[in-house]
Parts: sequence; C-alpha cells; structure tokens
Amino acid sequence: MSDHSKPDPDAEERMRRDLLLAVGAAPLSPFLQRHRTQHIARRVRFLSAVLAPLFLAWIAVDYAVFEWPLWGAVAAMRLTLALILLYLARIYDPETSRLPGFFALVLFIAGPVVLYLLSNGIIVKAAPDGLGAVVAAFYPLLPVMMLAALALFPLTLFETAAVGLPVIAAVAYGSAAGGGIEWVGFARDLWMVGLILVMSAAACVMQLRYMTTLVRQASFDPLTGAYSRDSGSEVMDVQFHIAERQNAPFSIALLDLDNFKAVNDTYGHHEGDRILRQMVDVLTAKKRDADVVVRWGGEEFLLVLPNTDVAGARVALMRLMDGWFGKRPDGTPLTASIGVAERDSDNEHDWRGLIELADRRMYEAKRAGRSRAVLPGDETMATDAA
Ligand code: GH3
Ligand code: MG
Ligand code: MG
Repeated sequence: MSDHSKPDPDAEERMRRDLLLAVGAAPLSPFLQRHRTQHIARRVRFLSAVLAPLFLAWIAVDYAVFEWPLWGAVAAMRLTLALILLYLARIYDPETSRLPGFFALVLFIAGPVVLYLLSNGIIVKAAPDGLGAVVAAFYPLLPVMMLAALALFPLTLFETAAVGLPVIAAVAYGSAAGGGIEWVGFARDLWMVGLILVMSAAACVMQLRYMTTLVRQASFDPLTGAYSRDSGSEVMDVQFHIAERQNAPFSIALLDLDNFKAVNDTYGHHEGDRILRQMVDVLTAKKRDADVVVRWGGEEFLLVLPNTDVAGARVALMRLMDGWFGKRPDGTPLTASIGVAERDSDNEHDWRGLIELADRRMYEAKRAGRSRAVLPGDETMATDAA
C-alpha cells in the first residue's frame, strides 16, 4: 500500500514558488517575462486601437450637450488621449523601445483616468443641466472602466495593486471634488471600485498562473527538463543579438551522444530515457549559471554559452570532458561528440549559421573517432575515455 499522506517536497516547493510569483515577491524568469511583456503589449495595442476611435467619436456627444467652451476643452483632452492611444496601438513596440513593456499598460490605464480627473474639474464647475448633466454623470465611469480593463492582463498581485490603487485614489478624489461630500454616495463609490479591483486582481493572478503554466509546458522538454528546440531557438535569437550589439563573444556547443542507440537496443528505451535525463542533469550541474541547455533533437543537445570566446569554451569543454556525463549502463563513460562554433572567430552574422558550423564540426568529431570536440580552426580536444 502506498502512503498518500506523504508530502511531495517537489510539489510543495513548486506551490511555494508559484505563490511568491503570483504575489510578485519572486521575479519571473527572463524568458517568461519576455513572453508576458509581448502578451501585454499585444493586448494594449488591440484595446488602444478599439478605444481611440470611441474616445474621438464621443466628442460629437459632448458637442451636442455641452456649451462652448466646455465641449471645446473636453474635446481637446479627448483628442490628446486618442493620440496617446494611437501611439500605443501603432507605434510603441516593447521589443525596440527603451520604455519598458509595463509602461504601455500604465499609460493605457492612466490615460482615461487622467482624462476623467481633468475634465471632472471643469465639468463640475460648468454645472451643465438637462442632457448635459446626464452625460456629465457618465464621466466618473471612466476610471471604473479602466479598473475592469485591468482584469484583461496577466499581472501579479503587487502589480495589480500598484496600478489599481492610484485609480481608486482618483475615484475618491473626483468623488470628493464636487464640494460638499455626499457621504453615502462617496462610500458606495469607493466600495464599488474596491470590489472591482479585487475581482480584477483575482482575474489578473489567474491569468498569470495560466500563462506561466502554458509557457512552461511549451518551453521545456518534458523528458529532460531542458529547453525545447523552439524555446532554445528563441534564446539563441535573443542572446545572439545581444552579443552582436555589444560585440561580445558568443559560443555554442552541439553535443551528440556516442553510440546511444546501443543503450536503447541493449537495455531498452526506458533505460535510454534515464540516460538522457542523466545527461541533462550532469550538463546542468557543470555549466555556468548563464549557460543554457537545449534538447536540440533526440539525443542531441545544444549548450549556449553567452559571453564566451573560444578560450572560454575550451575551459567549459574541459569541465564537461572531465568525467563526461557519468556512466553508461555498462559502466563505461557516457561520452559525446561535440562541435563548437563562435560568433566572432567564425565571423557569423546569424545564429543559424553557427548551428550549421557546430553541426559540421560535430560530425567531424564523430568521423575522427567520437568522444571529442572540434573547435573553430579545426582544433580538436579529446580524452582517452572512448
Ligand atoms: P552516434 O555515435 O553515431 O551518434 O550513434 P548513435 O547511436 O548515438 O546515433 P543514432 O543517431 O544512430 O541514434 C540516435 C538514437 O537516439 C536513435 C533513437 O532511437 C534514440 N532516441 C532519440 N530520442 C530518444 C528518446 O527520447 N528516448 C530514447 N530512449 N531514445 C531516443
Ligand atoms: Mg544523433
Ligand atoms: Mg548519437
């Protein structure tokens, strides 16, 4: 009989980490963060494109019910807001802009709230009557709408509060700005926006959690936990560009296990799978923190080495080849054939070109007798472990 009450330390650790993540007390991984920023920016772009024409069209309503100069002043504000939203919808790009991705979200939420704050003062002073009073009563709904819109984004609890609480402060300020406070209405307004913010916060955190799970599932190879080929390509894309921009060295090593098929054939696929996991575990333990392990194919792995020139790659390889990747089921060392390529020495301007070079060198290593690495300039490193 199995003991179901025994706590699973891994699951507990995961839960603790996810909780910290949801609150905003633990940072998202750069990879997740990048996905989330793109996701948020896409949503801001779409919502801004929808809202900009609506804010502009409402000028006609203000014109119909407000007197001059009230409608003119409000129209000028609306026009400014529409331009800001158009900027967010068409021009702002978190990938190239120096302004952080979160900036788009803050600007998107703050725009209509500021419009409310600015227009509220002059509308209250002008005290329109008739239809004008009806339309004026709609303005305080702007911040409420933005609190609800907050629910459309994957945010941590901290971020939701950081954006939402100032909006609530704006509601309180606007509600009190009319002169003598009407306490019942004031309390009801605050209670309502407070509730909406709580609902939005719940929706934000749930979305963040959902997104985190999906990105993790899509990004990591389920067997070994290494980066999948797709997410590995993304990492290469980003890291290669950074290296090019900073003119920094950038190496990769492509590793193909030697005679791996024999493990499957002799000991079964299950044992083969275990060896693959062992390979990634050892590789992960031996690499530096900034290096990335990618399962590039079946028993082919890519080690991405940012900020590493050929001399640095040599050091990394020495560490890998010292004891290799543990033992095969028959007790002999689990070795690989390795091809190394480096951005600067190989004069490559595309990471795909680097992979091709590394692939060619990996096959040279195979041909030369396996259990060795071939580096730029036909340099070979070998051990006597074969
Ligand atoms: P070489 O030294 O020339 O690389 O020989 P090798 O046997 O390692 O190379 P080969 O390409 O012939 O074999 C690769 C094998 O990897 C074939 C395939 O069945 C096995 N393989 C690929 N993916 C997995 C996997 O997920 N699990 C297991 N158990 N085996 C896998
Ligand atoms: Mg292979
Ligand atoms: Mg192989």
